[in-house]
Amino acid sequence: MSSFKRYSLLNAFVSSLLVMLLMLLVFSFSGLTLLGWITVAVSGGVVFLILQIVQWQIISRSEMEVAEAIAHVEMMSSGEYSGSDVRSSFGVGHLVDVVSESVSKIQQQHNQILLEKKELNIRLGIADAENKHLTSILNTLNDAVVVTDSFNEIAMANSAASKLFRFNLDESKRLPVDQIINDSSLAKLIKDTREGQHKHTRRLEQRVVKGGSESVYDVTLSSVYTTNQANSNIASQNVNSGVVTILRDVTREREIAETKSDFVSNVSHELRTPLSSIKAYMEMLIDGEAEDEKTRFEFYNIIQGETNRLSRLIDNILNISRIESGVVRVQREHTSLMSIVTEAVNIMLPQARAKQIELVEIPSPDYFQVYADRDMILQCVLNLLSNAIKYTSDGGRVSVSVSVDDSSEMVRVVVNDTGVGIPEEDVPHLFDKFYRVADHKKLAKGTGLGLNLVKHVIETVHNGEVNIESEVNHGSTFTFALPIAED
Ligand code: ADP
Repeated sequence: MSSFKRYSLLNAFVSSLLVMLLMLLVFSFSGLTLLGWITVAVSGGVVFLILQIVQWQIISRSEMEVAEAIAHVEMMSSGEYSGSDVRSSFGVGHLVDVVSESVSKIQQQHNQILLEKKELNIRLGIADAENKHLTSILNTLNDAVVVTDSFNEIAMANSAASKLFRFNLDESKRLPVDQIINDSSLAKLIKDTREGQHKHTRRLEQRVVKGGSESVYDVTLSSVYTTNQANSNIASQNVNSGVVTILRDVTREREIAETKSDFVSNVSHELRTPLSSIKAYMEMLIDGEAEDEKTRFEFYNIIQGETNRLSRLIDNILNISRIESGVVRVQREHTSLMSIVTEAVNIMLPQARAKQIELVEIPSPDYFQVYADRDMILQCVLNLLSNAIKYTSDGGRVSVSVSVDDSSEMVRVVVNDTGVGIPEEDVPHLFDKFYRVADHKKLAKGTGLGLNLVKHVIETVHNGEVNIESEVNHGSTFTFALPIAED
């Protein structure tokens, strides 16, 4: 028996006793006989006791039923029991039925939620795999890609972008774009695109400072629109949900385009100058302006010099393109470098004289031969001598010598001048195609092709080597060496 039951039983006896005493007290003033007085009091006490016992039994019964119902509900909640068979006269059975119904509904909902959870987990796994796949595709791109969301925060970026703007990819998500992109004008462009100030896709060129130097980027900004279906009563509308920004480094392309345009204008100028000169002297000859033989001879010489200059330029362009495309025809023969040098000096003498430059060929006591394409080597010597004269002020000196280096078994041609010299930082670039020292552009016209051809002919075609030594304002020494021909 539970303590509650014991307490209730005790309570019934005590209260019946109290009722009996109360009745004895009340009926003592009623004038009843002693027997009648006791009988009334005892019967009142007994009736009260019987009522108390009945109440106690009802309570015990309902307590049992509630306990049984709790046990059923507990079984239901643990999933071991699905129906109610509680017999009750107090409506507890009905309560259990209601609870049982609710529990089974909750169970169904729970099972449904479990199913949905499972499905969501599968979808999440697929989305995660797709996301990883997309990220690895993005990371293979050389172009920097930055995707921002409707709050102007980073939603996605690739490794090219993290390198360009120097941020940590893993820590960049959900950070404001201007905190990640250290280029304020680009961050503003992204924001403006998101705010709809620039519709759909926009392309522009943007200069970005990267590692201290400025690079040119072709930037494409595209707004991403999603359909807003949050409220079914309102007609669906397209909402700007972010911006995809793609940056392609076009620095090299712009440089090449600039160089090509410089090249075309330089080559045109280079071609036009000798052509105009040839044309002018030809017209003077035709008009009979050269009256005496000496003047006519002078005019012929100028025409010849200009024609040579023209053909050298065209030869340079053609030869570089042939060597680069691998279709050059090399006609090797045993030839003396001394004779090539002498021929080049004779060709360049008029140009040197025009600037009062002393052009000297230092004789060599040795005789040696190389196995080379004579015309190509002649063109190299001419290019070196022409440069030495071009970049030496009037009255300077240019010398050329040929010598043998017994240890390396090479023949060396050294062209030395007392000209403007070359700044140290330009030296590594001198053999690049179209490269010209900026300060020298005003000194003489040129195309930046002469030294490139020398390098190609000596090193690529003849396995030789080319070197430069130079000091600004003191002069330069260009040396090339070719293997001595075997007997
Ligand atoms: P260019 O037609 O401009 O002379 P080159 O390829 O022959 O082209 O030479 C490239 C650049 O190297 C020149 O523009 C010039 O700045 C520099 N250079 C070449 N030779 C000399 C030299 N002897 N003295 C000073 N600078 C030189």
